[in-house]
Amino acid sequence: MLDCNARPTASHEEDSGATWDADDEKAQSILSSGPAAFITSCMQPSQGVYQIPDMGISNAYLLDVGEQGTVLVDTGTPGKNQKILSYLTTIGKKPSDVTYIVLTHPDADHSGSAAEMRRLTGAKLAIGALDAPRLSGEKKLKEVGGLGGVMVGVFGAFMQVERTKPDIELDDGSTVGPLTIISTPGHTDGSICVLKPGAAICVGDLLRTDGSGKLQLASPNMSRSMDEVRRSTEKISKLEFSMLLPGHGKPIESDASKRLKAFVANGFRE
Ligand SMILES: [Zn+2]
Repeated sequence: MLDCNARPTASHEEDSGATWDADDEKAQSILSSGPAAFITSCMQPSQGVYQIPDMGISNAYLLDVGEQGTVLVDTGTPGKNQKILSYLTTIGKKPSDVTYIVLTHPDADHSGSAAEMRRLTGAKLAIGALDAPRLSGEKKLKEVGGLGGVMVGVFGAFMQVERTKPDIELDDGSTVGPLTIISTPGHTDGSICVLKPGAAICVGDLLRTDGSGKLQLASPNMSRSMDEVRRSTEKISKLEFSMLLPGHGKPIESDASKRLKAFVANGFRE
């Protein structure tokens, strides 16, 4: 079972007072300290699915895809590179084992560390085709109206995301090694889910779980279209997976597709 409550035994940032900025020197010093500094906190290695611990407000995951390496799904807010590198070491991997970085959508709390992680790992960076211009800076990173727009403005003042052109633009049915990409618009126009067949689905901000672990749809204030969110949720409820890995909240660790089908049948409520 996943144990998401455990935390690392030590944090390099807290111990050293280091800044959030990662660079090569810091990456090396983190890696040379070895895995003993951290315990593995949230993983299901038999399925090749790992949640990177202690990432703050949003979740990021590592999916082991065998000979094709390891795929990082989402990167958290800006400055999370050290956390990700440290956890890679904990599970016995090197930065160069990360072959792809897949972003479920370009919001700052998911794409924040993407450009730096690409530099540190040499991985290819992939995102849904319709969201690519937002990551690259051709369009605004996020556009929503009402209260969401105000929140984005405040958030954006504190969280500067380095814009970068992705290496790969993903569409519905694209593959990343053995992973399948499902186009699930609604939260953003180009939002995607990442399916590790039979095992897990990373849903980004299409769905979240609340404090008690209950499933919820994307935040209406922060989403482009709730009608599309509902259609996209119905779409993925037809797939089979045991774990559902949301961008926010606790992952669902087992029987997730069964729970999602019941959620949809119950009017998108648990
Ligand atoms: Zn988010």
